[in-house]
Amino acid sequence: MHVSRFIALATVNNPAKKKYLYAFNIIPMKSMDPAELVKQPQDVTENPYKRPGKDKADAQKATFGATEEEEPAHQFFFDLSRKQGGGSRGRGRKRPSDGARWGGDQQQDGDRPKQPRRHPQPSGPCWFCLASPQVEKHLVISIGTHCYLALAKGALTPRHMLILPIGHYQSVVELGSEVVEEMEKYKSALRSFYKSKGDRCVLFERNYRSQHLQLQVVPVPLDCCATEDIKEAFMVQAQEQQMELMEIPEHTDLKQIAPPGTPYFYVELDSGEKLFYRIQKHFPLQFGREVLASEAVLNIPTRADWRECKQTREEEDEACKQLRDDFQPFDFAWED
Ligand SMILES: [Zn+2]
Repeated sequence: MHVSRFIALATVNNPAKKKYLYAFNIIPMKSMDPAELVKQPQDVTENPYKRPGKDKADAQKATFGATEEEEPAHQFFFDLSRKQGGGSRGRGRKRPSDGARWGGDQQQDGDRPKQPRRHPQPSGPCWFCLASPQVEKHLVISIGTHCYLALAKGALTPRHMLILPIGHYQSVVELGSEVVEEMEKYKSALRSFYKSKGDRCVLFERNYRSQHLQLQVVPVPLDCCATEDIKEAFMVQAQEQQMELMEIPEHTDLKQIAPPGTPYFYVELDSGEKLFYRIQKHFPLQFGREVLASEAVLNIPTRADWRECKQTREEEDEACKQLRDDFQPFDFAWED
């Protein structure tokens, strides 16, 4: 998505003689090259303001029963009052988040490329967009309609996998309902698969310093420890790092507590219990792995860092081949 620049100026003729004028050249967003538009400067931070978007207004209404209409978005660089979607390009109305990312209706502007965009686009090369040339296709285990399953690079254990959206989405809370639905199907397929192997299923997601959603799915042997112990391990190890994991009710939609753009970490246990942490400033990137690798759970502390678990291409190929065969009876995508 594109960035906004904030420049603070002092009041005119302030006694401290601080700078109160700032001159610059400006190129309207609609005449900028999209690649140029989404370039991220080094010091970019999260947008502190909520994004305008119908999805969110609807979600809020559904959640809180709010009746107020969301305020129309105020934008400076292009005219939002321009008619939406003429002809076939308007068909099916783009997802509102596309609009937010790409600056409203600029895609429908006459001098822009006319290609419809179904998904938000990454701002650079992405290792996880299935269509991207960077993706490591040999790690893919199963491909559905909206999501796919891959062996985790430097997997904690041989059946540690990732559920990922095929298109570019940053986090679970940004997904549309059909993607969420399929993600749930993969979750339950993996739960059954793990169960057949005598494992329980632990999932976690870190929406912090990552561009493309990766839902980590790690099996923990049933006889290794109880769900309660895993929960306790997360709680205790979070506390040791001055983070307080919050237990959220089983059927709570993360969107209700983490609007898109909020950095967070969450764990889902096989009991359906969810632990949530709203990331404040810093967050240990390997936290989920560290807890699961710790003595309290899998007791493989040396594997906490994925870089220590890297396999050769041949080993990865072999592991994936085995995993595909093993998972196939549980793979709904295979049946279709
Ligand atoms: Zn991506």
